[in-house]
Amino acid sequence: MSSTVREFRRTRILVTGGAGFIGSHLCRRLIDQGHEVLCVDNFFTGARDNLGDLLNHPSFELMRHDVTVPLFVEVDQIYNLACPASPVHYQFDPVQTTKTSVHGAINMLGLAKRVKARILQASTSEVYGDPVEHPQTEEYWGNVNPIGFRSCYDEGKRCAETLFFDYWRQHQVSIKVARIFNTYGPNMHPSDGRVVSNFVMQALLGRPITLFGDGQQTRSFCYVDDLVDALMRLMNSPGDVTGPINLGNPSEFTIRELAELVLELTGSRSELVFKPLPQDDPRQRRPDISKAKTMLDWEPRVSLRQGLERAIPYFESVLKLG
Ligand code: NAD
Ligand code: UDP
Ligand code: UDP
Repeated sequence: MSSTVREFRRTRILVTGGAGFIGSHLCRRLIDQGHEVLCVDNFFTGARDNLGDLLNHPSFELMRHDVTVPLFVEVDQIYNLACPASPVHYQFDPVQTTKTSVHGAINMLGLAKRVKARILQASTSEVYGDPVEHPQTEEYWGNVNPIGFRSCYDEGKRCAETLFFDYWRQHQVSIKVARIFNTYGPNMHPSDGRVVSNFVMQALLGRPITLFGDGQQTRSFCYVDDLVDALMRLMNSPGDVTGPINLGNPSEFTIRELAELVLELTGSRSELVFKPLPQDDPRQRRPDISKAKTMLDWEPRVSLRQGLERAIPYFESVLKLG
């Protein structure tokens, strides 16, 4: 390509899983920054509706494609987000979940290698499993059951991390690995079974709030705008910053505290009911984000209360449409 063409070319960015919850916010932010975005999705959990007006944007292209199949396109950056994220969805077809993480990573890394693109992997706090170290730093190797119901997701994501680091060492592919902790916000699938969507929908519908176990297990919830900001900072960080790097909100809440906050903010009078704890449900989870603070100059800005105040109207609108 001549230097003149290169000078005037905008960054072409591939987002796999771009029609999903996090991917749709990421596509929007990238378009707002003036980039060209190719969104690739098989619509297993994502939907065109999440992309709204982007579908008519001249710099945006949507392609129905499954990342377990090779993909030949020309791009400068790849955000690899394709993978169902909620336990209900990823356990629906566990073999396909592992294939999506592993074959998907191989294909996207092969693509990155061929076109010399920088590639970011959406990994997960699930690589830490049910952690015995708290809070979790990137040096912790995790406590993961390799043969349980969550393993297709956890081990698939762990293997994808291995592939990223081997393509980096063996083929000098420019990689970035983000370990994302629980994230929530508009465009979450209202029936994906995740705790924030479940509790808000139950509260709005006046149905019982289902606490699994005693509700004393903890999670740390990050608002999606903060997370997308972090993903973009990581992608554009210096080449020697490969990660893995924890991205999430370090404020830790018990699931019961979350339920009570949702009740307060929705004004709902739903009762709390207790249900059995799913197998291998992590007891506690909170990211140590020291690395993200120093290397990306990033930390979350949106509190759980503020984030829920922004997310609840989205779930209300889903109910009105629905
Ligand atoms: P999501 O289910 O809303 O989005 C995933 C998207 O990937 C969907 O649009 C789905 O249709 C698509 N997809 C699934 N399999 C595919 C395949 N084989 N080929 C092409 N597209 C496929 O989930 P999300 O919450 O937006 O998660 C996005 C990414 O972030 C996932 O990789 C997930 O593992 C990771 N992550 C999310 C969280 C969270 O709390 N939301 C936490 C940790 C990691
Ligand atoms: N691949 C792809 N798009 C490309 C280049 C490669 O989907 O632009 C796929 C390719 O089909 C292969 C995988 O990525 O299945 C890994 O590619 P790599 O070149 O690393 O390995 P090889 O082709 O030598 O097995
Ligand atoms: N959870 C709950 N009630 C629900 C859904 C989830 O108590 O209706 C609990 C679940 O057992 C887990 C926590 O909330 O301890 C977070 O669950 P989620 O599925 O959102 O994410 P993950 O377990 O992957 O962190």
